[in-house]
Amino acid sequence: MSQAQRFSDDTALVIVDVQNDFCPGGNLAVPGGDEIIETINALKKKFNTVVLTKDWHPAGHQSFASSHDGKAPLELINMPYGPQVLWPDHCVQDSEGAAFHTNLALAPTDLILHKGTNAAIDSYSGFFENDGKTRPQFDDGKTLTEALREKGIKNVVFVGLAYDFCVGWHALDAIKEGFNALVAKDATRSIAIPGADGGPDTDAVMTDQLAQAGAIVTETKALENILRPA
Ligand SMILES: [Zn+2]
Repeated sequence: MSQAQRFSDDTALVIVDVQNDFCPGGNLAVPGGDEIIETINALKKKFNTVVLTKDWHPAGHQSFASSHDGKAPLELINMPYGPQVLWPDHCVQDSEGAAFHTNLALAPTDLILHKGTNAAIDSYSGFFENDGKTRPQFDDGKTLTEALREKGIKNVVFVGLAYDFCVGWHALDAIKEGFNALVAKDATRSIAIPGADGGPDTDAVMTDQLAQAGAIVTETKALENILRPA
């Protein structure tokens, strides 16, 4: 891939949670989660700045249904910071399920951000934990916002798993942090939890939230036109 085919230096790619537990066979498998990896591998060669997030929970994390007596996965509970969907145990630190899918191509320049490491607070987004205040940090102590700003990033493209939770929350937070947020939807997959009483599922709700926030939901093949206007 020549330099000329890359996106400009003010544009970053954030690849969300392409880990075994979110792929078929994993503990919190997103349907078709592994189908996006080839697209992501091709896309990632076009960016100078690539961040990969890893959901990285201590055992007994409070987002796990198993941490709450009588609760089942996908039930909603109230945490001190607000409502929280409960999940099956997943992405426990250093487990096979928490490893990146083996088909995901990694480069030495990739920046890796672990999130969800606080046992008491879930973290869909790498910008903010689910309390909307505390922030995950890279190993060097920088936050995602700091790392992106340091590189002069203005536009951030999000791909990965799952669209209706971690990918979407990243894009919503990116806008709060002053970035332009784009989601390449063909390089994501959704959990798509049905809405109560036949209401819209979590995929449709997220699409609505992203539109209201001003995020661009598009396809990988359209990125070039959006990011490099003639
Ligand atoms: Zn998690």
